[in-house]
Amino acid sequence: MSRRPLLRLLRLAAPFRWWMLLAALLGVATIGSSIALMATAAWVISRAALHPPIGVLSVAVVGVRFFGIARGVFRYLERIVAHQTTFCLLARLRVWFFAHLEPLAPARLQEHRSGDLLARIVADIDTLENIYLRVIAPPAVAALVAAGMAVFMAAYDLRLALALVSLLIAAGALIPLALRGLARQPGRELVAARGALVAAVIDGVQGMADLAAFNAQERHLASVRQLSRALAHHQWRLAALGAVQTALLSLVTSLAALVVLVLAIPLVRGGQLDGVLLAVLVLAALASFEAVQPLPAALQHLDSSLAAARRLFELVDAPPAVRDPAQPLPMPTKFSGNSISDPLLHVEGLRFRYAPGDPPALDGVSFALPAGAIVAVVGPSGAGKSTLVGLLLRFWDYDKGAIRLAGHDLRRYAQDDVRRLLSVVSQQTHLFSGTLLDNLRVARPDAAPDEAFAALRAAHLDRFVAALPDGLDTWIGEQGLRLSGGERQRLAIARAVLKDAPILLLDEPTANLDPVTERAVLETVFSALAGRTTLLITHRLAGLERASAILVLEKGRIAERGTHTELLQHGSAYRRLWARQQAEQALIADTTSTPL
Ligand code: ADP
Repeated sequence: MSRRPLLRLLRLAAPFRWWMLLAALLGVATIGSSIALMATAAWVISRAALHPPIGVLSVAVVGVRFFGIARGVFRYLERIVAHQTTFCLLARLRVWFFAHLEPLAPARLQEHRSGDLLARIVADIDTLENIYLRVIAPPAVAALVAAGMAVFMAAYDLRLALALVSLLIAAGALIPLALRGLARQPGRELVAARGALVAAVIDGVQGMADLAAFNAQERHLASVRQLSRALAHHQWRLAALGAVQTALLSLVTSLAALVVLVLAIPLVRGGQLDGVLLAVLVLAALASFEAVQPLPAALQHLDSSLAAARRLFELVDAPPAVRDPAQPLPMPTKFSGNSISDPLLHVEGLRFRYAPGDPPALDGVSFALPAGAIVAVVGPSGAGKSTLVGLLLRFWDYDKGAIRLAGHDLRRYAQDDVRRLLSVVSQQTHLFSGTLLDNLRVARPDAAPDEAFAALRAAHLDRFVAALPDGLDTWIGEQGLRLSGGERQRLAIARAVLKDAPILLLDEPTANLDPVTERAVLETVFSALAGRTTLLITHRLAGLERASAILVLEKGRIAERGTHTELLQHGSAYRRLWARQQAEQALIADTTSTPL
């Protein structure tokens, strides 16, 4: 639930509480030094006016110097400790957040567009950077300074303490709270106006050619100008409120000096207060307002941090689509000895829909995958093939029917255990930013370089890698070497070899490849991963002669089943797919062989 985001944030920050306390105490020491500096300076000047022997002043002069230096030293230490705490806290938040997000992928995250999601998460976590430095620390420091000043003033007169604390509260809490209320509406309008202006400018830039062709630049410019004026107006309103706030804070600070004077002068007259201390009290009171200066900003940061925290908590609080059973079954260690009558994987009457109102994506699918066999599931796009893969990988829970692994329902095992048994080669192989070896170790983190190289050899990628200057240490991914489609898939095969799981799931492994590369990659798959129990999911009918059974999936149901030869002879859906594919390939061959 997204209730009480502040409390949850504080709980997450709990391991750093001592560092936070230290940083707050250093903050108090910094402002305390400022106050002490002003107070001792005031005392030196007042006392000097009475022409005392120089020795009387010397201790206080040293005090002035000491507090002047201490202020800088304390500020420096406070910044170091506070930033160190902030970065440690951020690191913890990121890891915590990722750990909570991961079980939600992919089922619960698909509602968010991935680009949006990423941008939102990064921005929101960055916003939380402020939570300690600008939200928690300033009020804590201000409260401690106010308490210290109250004790100091009360030592002379209780009314002084009451007046000063009231004015500190007015400056640090009442004025910012009142102005926050006033700024809320213009703030919202400002955000909307900025969004509208950005959209209009981007539209204008992207549609420049069309605007020019229709002579519409002037009209577009006029609307941009109008939006820009609206934005400036909202900015002006907010700036005016900011100015009022600054002015009010200065006013209250000066008022504090006046009030202390008005209250203290009668005390001096009545002999309860040494006249030398008059300026001390006034300047100490003035200096104490430094503690409340960051509070208006703290309030703004509180709002944005809470909004960010609420969004992050909402995301991670979504219940995962699949939960592990309370007591998962141990994974069977032996997978041999399975026969047709006792298959390794058995799908029975499987039915699944993505959302309650949706038509079923799989409806009554049944088949067996005996150990060592190759079973293929083919069908046109939208038939439900990826859904089947998603269910096998436990990304979603099925509604009806069962998937049995070694005789037990898949739902009775822990998800991680199930995934450990499956090697997946999918159509999109993600390459992480890292070395080739890092990318292979995704499949098995402890793989030694020669094991990794052996896997590359099985995937027929060894010569390619050996020719690279850095070999296995070549950087690939976003900022590194770009691999061709075929090389990517070979890397995926090498990963599968390295993982060496008992069941191989080939999810359209050649969907993005041209027919020649497709054939070569399929050859590699079957040679490198020969003998493994394999489920081949594909909409292309290549390499299917090897399958002991082919299931033709249409609209979530199995329309036909048999071997490649049987289906070519008797299967109508299969023959249709086959004919379409032959025609496509003939077309490709035609266009590539015809000179343009
Ligand atoms: P295939 O892999 O055979 O192309 P899919 O399994 O992707 O087919 O899709 C089967 C059906 O389920 C389609 O009607 C598709 O629109 C729907 N579908 C697929 N993925 C989702 C999803 N994440 N959310 C809702 N519906 C989905």
